[in-house]
Amino acid sequence: ARKFFVGGNWKCNGTSEEVKKIVSTLNGGQVASADVVDVVVSPPFVFLPLVKSLLHSDFHVAAQNCWVKKGGAYTGEISAEMLLNLNIPWVILGHSERRLLLGESNEFVGDKVAYALSKGLKVIACVGETLEQRESGATVEVVAAQTKAIAERISDWTNVVLAYEPVWAIGTGKVATPAQAQEVHCELRKWLQINVSVEVAESIRIIYGGSVNGANCKELAAQPDVDGFLVGGASLKPEFVDIINSAT
Ligand code: 13P
Repeated sequence: ARKFFVGGNWKCNGTSEEVKKIVSTLNGGQVASADVVDVVVSPPFVFLPLVKSLLHSDFHVAAQNCWVKKGGAYTGEISAEMLLNLNIPWVILGHSERRLLLGESNEFVGDKVAYALSKGLKVIACVGETLEQRESGATVEVVAAQTKAIAERISDWTNVVLAYEPVWAIGTGKVATPAQAQEVHCELRKWLQINVSVEVAESIRIIYGGSVNGANCKELAAQPDVDGFLVGGASLKPEFVDIINSAT
């Protein structure tokens, strides 16, 4: 069975005071055992050392991005090597906010995933369609193309979690229905089975993101192909603990 995975993507939010508060809520929460669920929180780069120093060792940290190759003359970027130097084990790559607002292409995201994995980082790789793409019936084609650009560049999927985050559900309060999430997760697994391997398709965690909260997580978590969540807004609130506990 696949171990449940809950990520908290804090995006570009927080002061050091707020960060301390979120971490202490998490540390003090009645949370399902680390044997049952992997919990990874992803603060902005500048708070990574603070969060790492305060967070209970059952929880892990992720960066929200990293550079596509070795560091050097790339003003404003953070390299995979730097994250490893700080013992940051995870990185989120290909989030739709970076694809859409910063122009990251499927190929660029694929290159980033490949480089980060080659250096020993674990990757939460995000895919998802826009509302327009969904309405034109292109959802599966879009997420397959995003996944293909990764599959063409890596051979070992052990350290990858795939996050399905429909853009129309992110930050909108318009959560995908459990059936909508299940359908795309199942299609992604089928795609991996055909194009990568049966083993990868069966073992990879495919998590859902987009307006997940304490009230809707249980029903989503009950879907056979939903292996956890990537949570934005609600990961900054005490209800994140309830979302973690939807694992059980
Ligand atoms: P929300 O949970 O705020 O919709 O954000 C989801 C997301 O983008 C997580 O990466």
